[in-house]
Amino acid sequence: MTPIRVGLLGLGIVGGGTWQILERNREEIARRAGREIVVTRAAVRPQDLERAALKTGGRIQLSTDPLQVVEAGDVDVVVELMGGYEPAKTLVLHALELGKPVVTANKALLALHGNEIFATALQHGVMVGFEAAVAGGIPIIKALREGLTANRIQWLAGIINGTSNFILTQMRDQGMGFSEALQQAQALGYAEADPTFDVEGVDAAHKLSLLAAIAFGIPVQFERAHVEGITKLTAEDIRYAEELGYRIKLLGIAKRTARGIELRVHPTLIPERRLIANVDGVMNAVLVHGDAVGSTLYYGAGAGAEPTGSAVVADLVDIARMTGSDPGHRVPHLAFQPDQVRNEVVLPVAEIETAYYLRLRATDRPGVLAEVTRILAQQNISIEAMLQKEPAAGEERVDVIMLTHVAQERAIDAAIAEIESLESIAAPVVRLRLETLSS
Ligand code: NAP
Repeated sequence: MTPIRVGLLGLGIVGGGTWQILERNREEIARRAGREIVVTRAAVRPQDLERAALKTGGRIQLSTDPLQVVEAGDVDVVVELMGGYEPAKTLVLHALELGKPVVTANKALLALHGNEIFATALQHGVMVGFEAAVAGGIPIIKALREGLTANRIQWLAGIINGTSNFILTQMRDQGMGFSEALQQAQALGYAEADPTFDVEGVDAAHKLSLLAAIAFGIPVQFERAHVEGITKLTAEDIRYAEELGYRIKLLGIAKRTARGIELRVHPTLIPERRLIANVDGVMNAVLVHGDAVGSTLYYGAGAGAEPTGSAVVADLVDIARMTGSDPGHRVPHLAFQPDQVRNEVVLPVAEIETAYYLRLRATDRPGVLAEVTRILAQQNISIEAMLQKEPAAGEERVDVIMLTHVAQERAIDAAIAEIESLESIAAPVVRLRLETLSS
């Protein structure tokens, strides 16, 4: 069979890793794909031309014009690894309109424009592979879309941002504050110079919106996700959580409820005995709960040149195997047949239901706790556990930590507002969400 010819847009970390894997494992990959997969062209920046030529030994035709690569007659598949929204979006849509399949690792692009991109791909009968866009090297898209296809997926929860997981691990293990841990992540190359998307939960929400679409058969709805990052988290709360038997992780959670879908990213207490609570450093993990299979956990490298390249190449192999097949017989992009994708309600955060961790700074005198528990009871919130710290020398106020049973967020908001208005409580009350992640 003739080789399948690939045009790479971007030869940075992931582009370089993809090229390396295709070179090193060329023969083995061809044995699996049924034909060779060769990179014929790549688009790079003018200043990178020389370095890229050295790296690829002159075996790829390099260009500084990505459009030229997309349109080239010797490119059958376009692999977008430049990142960003433009020109990536225009180039991806153009490739699809030319009938060329696309592989991309660009979660930001798919989270915002995925519905349009998938619709264009469908219209032109071509595939869009995006395994690399979620959790790097972990084949979670394939697992959800194919391996778990018998199940009604009830919920999933993932550590899907390695940078924030590294920071949280440092805060717990070394007792560091957020800023110090972030600086260390930057020094080690785990965080970008501008880490906003990672530490504010945006990157995790991009990935979560893709996972939720595939899990529940809904459109990609990044704009409806509730997004909170880790920037306000303190080492103190990580320590108190630990004392109560919990770890704090930045989780992306998608949950089906009778009233709609919960779609949220936020720091979350999880029992330390859960495997996912012990996923540390830059590693990623996704826990999926299906009605038939129960809980399954997927763990691995969520970023990096070759782990991410591994996912890109897997999509290329799928495309190589499927070329010429009837589009109607392929695995649908979002796991469900396109006419079966449904616009289910995504609940506003006030309507989610979960358990809570509350930390109050209270005046150390009798009656204060009675007032707080009365307010919680009025909102039908019951307390699961409580921890009261001794006041530091010369301090009048003490930290009181409460874990609640499951309650609606609206009730917790109302209770916190009332608690904060008490003279004996120093505002603000710290509130974190808690998930047991049990079946
Ligand atoms: P990267 O190292 O910055 O590589 C992207 C390369 O594309 C850079 O060399 C960039 O040049 C180049 N580029 C950008 N626009 C271009 C244009 N118009 N023409 C020619 N070259 C252009 O980024 P990366 O880490 O490989 O990430 C690529 C994509 O994979 C992103 O969407 C990212 O979110 C996703 N991803 C990355 C990882 C990871 O581990 N790195 C994991 C999962 C997903 P300049 O730097 O000069 O702009």
